[in-house]
Amino acid sequence: MIRKFFPEKYVESVYAIDLEKLKNDKIEAVIFDIDNTLVPYFVPNANARIKKLFLKIKEKGFKVGILSNNKERRVSLFCRDLNIEYVHKAGKPGVKGLGRLIKKLGVKNHKNTVIIGDQVFTDVLCGNRMGIHTILVKPVSKKDDFGTWLKRGIESFVISLYLKKR
Ligand SMILES: [Mg+2]
Repeated sequence: MIRKFFPEKYVESVYAIDLEKLKNDKIEAVIFDIDNTLVPYFVPNANARIKKLFLKIKEKGFKVGILSNNKERRVSLFCRDLNIEYVHKAGKPGVKGLGRLIKKLGVKNHKNTVIIGDQVFTDVLCGNRMGIHTILVKPVSKKDDFGTWLKRGIESFVISLYLKKR
C-alpha cells in the first residue's frame, strides 16, 4: 500500500536529474509539476536556469510538458515563455489530467513517461497509479500554500520510510 507513495528516484532538485540515464531507460516524455518543483508557488515565471534546462531536455529529443493542479492563468503564463504543452487543474493524484497530457504530447507508449514533482500525495501517487516512472524532488522553497503545508508532516514521514526501504 505505502509503496504507491514511493518514487522511483529521489533527488535534490530538477537540475540533479540524469537526462542520459532517462534516455537509456527509453523515456520519451518528461512531465513536470510547477509549484515548488520548478519555482515557489508565488513566482510567476521560469528563471534563466529553468529555461536552460528545458532547452537541454528538448535538445535531447524528449517531449516535455507541465502537469499542474493550479489555475489556468498561473499555468499558461508560466508555460508561455517555455513554449510547452500543459494541463492545468490536473486533479493529481487523479490520472485523467496526466492521461490527457500524455496524449497531447503524442507519447507512443505511455509507460515511457516520467513525472517529476515535489509531493508524494499528488505527483508521485499520480505517476504510480498511471504506471509511469516517478522522480521526487525536494521542494525549492519552504513556503507552501496552506493545503500543501498541511500535508508536509505526513509526507516527511512517508519519505523517511522510503529512505529506509531503499
Ligand atoms: Mg508541487
